[in-house]
Amino acid sequence: MMITVNNLQFKPFIAASEIQERVNALGAELRQRYEGKRPLFIGILNGAFIFTADLVRSAGLECEVTFMRLSSYAGLQSSGQVITNMGLDIDIKDRHVILVEDIIDSGRTLYELTKKMREQGPASVAIATLLLKPDALQFPLEADFIGFSIPSKFVIGYGLDYNQAGRELPEIFQLAE
Ligand code: 5GP
Repeated sequence: MMITVNNLQFKPFIAASEIQERVNALGAELRQRYEGKRPLFIGILNGAFIFTADLVRSAGLECEVTFMRLSSYAGLQSSGQVITNMGLDIDIKDRHVILVEDIIDSGRTLYELTKKMREQGPASVAIATLLLKPDALQFPLEADFIGFSIPSKFVIGYGLDYNQAGRELPEIFQLAE
């Protein structure tokens, strides 16, 4: 069923059950890789709050979870702005860090962030992203855990917003032409 959010029309794209299945598979991969390593999950606010919550529960690892805020989007377009203050409340030296992102578009956000993080001496830095737009990627960035590769069309739901609306939707919707 089509929905209207802030006067734009969106169509169903990835069902809640499909998301859950994929998140559980990623959780199993994480458990294998990080068992006994007490990883530090860092969710990127606001978009990754739901994915992070589901992912850490499905991984079922002994771990720490925190969040940080940095954003390059306003409306439908990446503005190219990355907030440089890391605003992180935990020392990442010698830690196994897993950055949890809702979606990678140009890749600028995570490219800049991982570069800065590596300067602080973590044991490892991995990227878990629910969505990846491979055709939009402009930075040399490799995500370690990817939920779905999708076309370069604007999506909302499962944490992702359009001008702060739509985050609560349990499934993912795509902008309709
Ligand atoms: P990047 O730095 O990779 O260009 O942008 C990543 C950020 O842009 C994501 O964390 C997300 O906030 C936002 N973004 C990119 N594509 C979409 C999209 O299709 N829908 C929404 N709601 N946000 C997006």
